[in-house]
Amino acid sequence: MRGLDPSVDVADGDAPAECPYCGSTETEREHPKGPSLCRSMHFCHGCEQPFERFE
Ligand SMILES: [Zn+2]
Repeated sequence: MRGLDPSVDVADGDAPAECPYCGSTETEREHPKGPSLCRSMHFCHGCEQPFERFE
């Protein structure tokens, strides 16, 4: 399921998440331990802040 519509939320896991603080997509997905499968941890290289994304 790969659309080209930019208004669709990317849920494939390939595209970098956008940082909620600075809007950068220079982010890296982290892999937290534990059962929290409905959310993912990311780290922004733009402002060096970790952030969570709910999926
Ligand atoms: Zn940032």
